[in-house]
Amino acid sequence: MAMNAVLLGSPGVGKGTCAKILSEKTGLPHISTGDMLRQAIREGTALGREAKSFVDAGKLVPDGLVTKMVQERLSQPDCKKGFLLDGYPRTVAQARDLEGFMAVGVVLNLSAPESVIVERLSGRRTCRGCSATYHVKNSPPKKEGVCDRCSGELYQRSDEKPEVVAERLKVYEKQTKPLVEFYRGKGILADINAGFGMPEISKVIGQCEDAIKAAVRRK
Ligand code: AMP
Repeated sequence: MAMNAVLLGSPGVGKGTCAKILSEKTGLPHISTGDMLRQAIREGTALGREAKSFVDAGKLVPDGLVTKMVQERLSQPDCKKGFLLDGYPRTVAQARDLEGFMAVGVVLNLSAPESVIVERLSGRRTCRGCSATYHVKNSPPKKEGVCDRCSGELYQRSDEKPEVVAERLKVYEKQTKPLVEFYRGKGILADINAGFGMPEISKVIGQCEDAIKAAVRRK
């Protein structure tokens, strides 16, 4: 299924989890700007050094830096058949930049009640090795602190501490939410109810797959 898809939604709504499952099902690459930035920070690259203070504070990394990173990634051969873009665009300026170099076929707008989002973010654990995510209550690993997939160490991201979570949710409301109306106006937005917990994740995935199929038919 060839499709350029964007996953939109608040931090903690489940974009990464859904994108990983959709990527396995469709074969489209999952491109997470958060994962790419965290990797750059770990590796201490020039981009990582510039991005670190923003990421640690829960603020957005400047548009130009992220857009350049995304443009390079989307020009790779594996994106020719499409992609699942998770975490970008996050501002209207980024959305306009993206329009300049890539057409988007569908925007999956994931939403869930705020209480669910805060609970998901505070219990989330991430693998240092492969970036797989777990939840201490809702989807724990088989062995505490150890990734099921690659045996990597699980940790709590520094931007998942309560004060930084609050800042990220504020940033989302102010800077990212306007994208919902931006893309609705273009007729490519699909509203996805992502309020279902882990055992029912297939209900969220099913809605995403239907929206992608509808967009493919529209092409
Ligand atoms: P995420 O894993 O998507 O929640 O992203 C983690 C952090 O990376 C965000 O809080 C931002 O600091 C940064 N980040 C990720 N994507 C973007 C983007 N498109 N624009 C600016 N900053 C970003």
